[in-house]
Amino acid sequence: MAIFRAILGCPVYASAVTNSIVATRDSTRKGPRARQGKSATSTEGNAAARVAELEEELRAAQKTISALIEKAERNSGVGDAMDPENTARLEHLIAARTRELEEKTEALEAANKELRTLTQNLDQMVRQRTRALAESEAQHRRKNLELDRLNRMKGEFIAIAAHELRTPMTSIVGYLDLIVAGHMGDLPAELRRPISSIRRNAHRLKRLVDDMFDASRLESGRIALKRMSCSLGVVVIAVEEELRPLAAEKSQRIECRISDIPPIDADPDKIHQVVLNLVANSIKYTPPGGAIRVTVDLEEPASSDGRAQARLRVWDNGAGIPQSLRARIFEPFSDVNEAKHHTSAGPDSAGLGLFIARGIVELHGGSIVVDSEEGAYSEFTVRLPLVG
Ligand code: ADP
Repeated sequence: MAIFRAILGCPVYASAVTNSIVATRDSTRKGPRARQGKSATSTEGNAAARVAELEEELRAAQKTISALIEKAERNSGVGDAMDPENTARLEHLIAARTRELEEKTEALEAANKELRTLTQNLDQMVRQRTRALAESEAQHRRKNLELDRLNRMKGEFIAIAAHELRTPMTSIVGYLDLIVAGHMGDLPAELRRPISSIRRNAHRLKRLVDDMFDASRLESGRIALKRMSCSLGVVVIAVEEELRPLAAEKSQRIECRISDIPPIDADPDKIHQVVLNLVANSIKYTPPGGAIRVTVDLEEPASSDGRAQARLRVWDNGAGIPQSLRARIFEPFSDVNEAKHHTSAGPDSAGLGLFIARGIVELHGGSIVVDSEEGAYSEFTVRLPLVG
């Protein structure tokens, strides 16, 4: 039986083969390849499965041979009484099994080699892809830097252009106001209409230039607030008086509901600008005869460690704002109603009003949100900190 023991002990069956296969198979499951997609690992997976199958077969064959040897040893234990025919059959069987085992071992080694090659290929692919990824990341970073630079240039250009246009625009608008009011003598009848139209458009242009100026100063953080203790209600009343004629032109009524609340800690001119923009928008986007309501009240804190805030709500039953566009309206140059209101009449602008309003409110440490239902209503809510 020594011959069979020798077969079992020979390198063919040595666990080193199995161990090396297991090690290679395991190494394919770890490392950078784990990050690759399914397609990249499927070939390798097939090879690994084949290796596992062969290992299983090898183990089964080893078991069979051990059983046969044991049986042969048991037989030899009962002396030479064993049937020579049986012994020959047993030896034949063992020889056949041994051949089978050798073939399987060879197949296993071939599969193992294939697996190693695949693993190497895969490693190379991973390295290549990682390099490509790093290059594209660097490219992205470069592009972002370039975009930042262009954005800064755009901001500077708008700031300079708006600044340079403001002085001549103020003068043009001032003279046109005087001419139309008749302070510079009577206008010939045929000039009255064109001069009125020029004046209206000059006012539009001035508003646009002012908005561009404010937006660029907000973006570059160059707006300084002159904070003081002031009344939100007083600001609202002033805005209502200012815009009442405009609302009356469209047969709209501005209803004000003002509660007696503590003063806010704010720059009154800037808050005036915010309220004016919100109410002017309500007039603009509400059809003739529509309703506009401005409410000022106190919002109690939601929790015991929170603080009460002043709340301003501007509501109208106008066009409303579709859900999909609500977030966009606070972005600069957002004109979700496209150009339909850009006529020479009305206080239109370039879609900067809400961007500026949000910037000013946030500069105060407050917030602005919108709620709306298309074709039914819009309501803008501004929250501002109180004094103290
Ligand atoms: P502008 O009014 O000059 O276009 P704004 O920034 O003030 O710019 O408003 C952005 C957009 O938000 C408007 O174009 C309009 O589509 C929408 N919007 C603002 N207020 C209202 C409102 N009260 N009702 C309906 N839509 C509104």
